[in-house]
This record gives sequence, structure tokens and C-alpha cells, in this order.
Amino acid sequence: MPADRILILGGTGEARRLARALIDQGFAVVTSLAGVTSSPLLPAGELRRGGFGGEAGLADYVKRENIHAIVDATHPFAAQISRHGHGAAQLLGIDYCRLERPPWVAETADNWIEVGGLAEAVAVLPVGARPLLTIGRKEAARFFARADLRGVARMIEAPGIVMPQHWTLILARPPFSLENEIRLIDSHHISHVVTKNSGGDDTRAKLVAAREMTIPVVMVARPVKPEAPAFSTVEALIPALRQVLSP
Ligand code: NAP
Repeated sequence: MPADRILILGGTGEARRLARALIDQGFAVVTSLAGVTSSPLLPAGELRRGGFGGEAGLADYVKRENIHAIVDATHPFAAQISRHGHGAAQLLGIDYCRLERPPWVAETADNWIEVGGLAEAVAVLPVGARPLLTIGRKEAARFFARADLRGVARMIEAPGIVMPQHWTLILARPPFSLENEIRLIDSHHISHVVTKNSGGDDTRAKLVAAREMTIPVVMVARPVKPEAPAFSTVEALIPALRQVLSP
């Protein structure tokens, strides 16, 4: 009998680790990437790229490609594709679960300004702040629009818009070391670190650096994702999949 076929909604390191682990267990895996990064790190196994055309398009794909389950391993802030994945799975009566790293939690010595979204993150920065933006490229323009802010925007790929001259653009891919983060904050006289609560170890050092250098962190809370089984590690997810699917 052919192995059950799993669709991984990807775009994260966890998704790549999951693809490798499932293939090693004998499952047939296809990873889907949004196609928004021009040179993404690629997973093992089959790959497709680009939007599906909403929930209905995703459901059509799942039917056409004979997918038995959807594992949503997208970034915690990719809320729309998670809604679509959950909705398509419900429509077709197949399993849907998430692989989701736990959010970061503030420690006693941290000074976090917790906000509900990026609009609020822009608004809480005091006049003349020098933020280190680590929120990706899609929403950086909101910060550039405030003429009094001058800081550093770090992202994997250039924002695709003209950046004001008084901002510094750093193109870099995680992981980042504590030493790197301390040097960056120090050399650019950063007053605030601005981040989404992505969780994980690869980008945690900026929080430790902020704590050690006693500067505040503007922490954007995660969007709500659909109610569904969720696992924080590949090791926890695989046995659960094996209970409902066969390699
Ligand atoms: P989003 O707002 O939830 O999704 C927007 C649209 O992009 C979706 O409706 C879908 O288009 C398409 N899409 C998103 N992820 C897809 C996937 N894995 N495969 C196929 N189509 C996908 O997502 P986003 O925040 O723009 O994130 C896009 C991708 O970047 C995700 O794969 C995510 O894991 C990754 N990522 C996001 C962040 C972040 O901070 N948001 C950070 C790191 C990585 P259709 O409706 O046409 O199907």
C-alpha cells in the first residue's frame, strides 16, 4: 500500500525538520511554501510554491493530490494560511494539526512592553526612539512612516520599498549570537528592541541582550489561530501522526 501523504504548510525551520523526520519514517511528504522569499532554505522531499487561492483552492489541491492530513508548521504570525488549512481540512474531513514553538515568556529582569499588534508597537515608541526592528519586511513601512524614529531594520530580504535615509538596513538570516546582538544594540545606540513573539532559540539572543543592557522590548503578541491539536516539537508530533496515518 502506498504511504499516506502529508501536506506540510511550511516556511519555518520546524517545517524543514519535520519534513526530514517524516521522510525518515517512511511517510510521503509535500511541503508548501508561500513563495515570498526568493532564496528560501529548502526542505527534503516534494515541494510546491505559491498561494493556493484561499481555502477553496487549498481544499481543491488536497483532493487532487490525495493528501491524507495537513500539518501546519507555518510561522506563529502567519494567521491566514492557518485559517485556510484548518478550514480545508474540516471541509474534507481530514486531520489537521499544528507544529508550533512555544511563545517567549518575560523573565523578572525583562522590561517588556506587550502590545496586541504592529500598529500599537509603532504607537508605543516614544518620540525620537532608536528601535531595532526585527519584525520582517512586510510591515516595516509603518515604522518608517514616523519621521522622528531612526533605527535599524533587520530582515532576511530587502523590504521592496524605499527606506528613509536615516534608517540602517541589515540583511541577515538567523541564528544570531548574544555577542552579535550586544554589539548591534551598542553600536547603533538602540533604545528599544521591537519583535513579534515568534518564540524559538534562533532569535532569542536579542531578548537576552536587551535584558543585560536594560533596554525595553516592544513585544507583539501572537494572533489567535484555530482551535486544533498543537505540538511544540517534532518528537511530540510524530507519534500522534502515527496513530492516525500509516507510512
Ligand atoms: P499569511 O498572512 O498567513 O498568508 C497569506 C497568504 O499567503 C495565504 O492566504 C496563502 O495564499 C499564502 N501562503 C502563506 N503561507 C503559505 C504556504 N506555506 N504555502 C502556500 N501558500 C501560503 O502568511 P504570511 O504571514 O504572509 O507568511 C507567509 C509565509 O512566510 C508562511 O509560509 C510563513 O510560515 C512564513 N513566515 C512568516 C513570518 C511572519 O512573521 N508572518 C515569519 C517567518 C516565516 P492563498 O490564500 O492564495 O493560498
